[in-house]
Amino acid sequence: YTGKESEEVMTSKVRNILVSEVQSVPILIKQDTSIYEAIVKMFLEDVGTLYAIDEEQSLVGVISRKDLLRGTMGSNDIEKVPVSVIMTRKPNITICYPNDLLIYAANQLIEKQIDSLPVVEEHDGVDKVIGRVTKTTITRAFVNLME
Ligand code: ADP
Repeated sequence: YTGKESEEVMTSKVRNILVSEVQSVPILIKQDTSIYEAIVKMFLEDVGTLYAIDEEQSLVGVISRKDLLRGTMGSNDIEKVPVSVIMTRKPNITICYPNDLLIYAANQLIEKQIDSLPVVEEHDGVDKVIGRVTKTTITRAFVNLME
């Protein structure tokens, strides 16, 4: 390849990566989990975002590090207050689908100024969370292409 050609190959490779090819494992908690338990979970699983689900296993909330920090401020009893009080809820959750292009998900992260997107599969009215796209996911995909 000439420089120009390999650039074009690279660009078309980047454009064609699907979310499903690079997504990582989502960490899910029930929406009645306490703020305290959520903090423990975030450390144990070594992630920056947790997703809250309801009894039907459907996505109902996003919990970020700053959400948990906010939850520990004020007079909250963090062993009692559930994450449902502090999480970002529908319809304000930005999601993506396994068949979306990774470049679309990357754009959403920039546009919405967030660190991650849940990857969702809808069936029978249930939004099942099957993955997670983060800034790390995108950086890894980028590095893999270069190597
Ligand atoms: P942090 O707050 O730890 O810096 P984020 O930048 O991801 O992490 O989160 C900023 C805010 O955006 C938080 O209130 C969080 O709940 C919310 N948020 C994070 N991811 C999403 C998402 N996919 N859809 C909607 N809101 C989100």
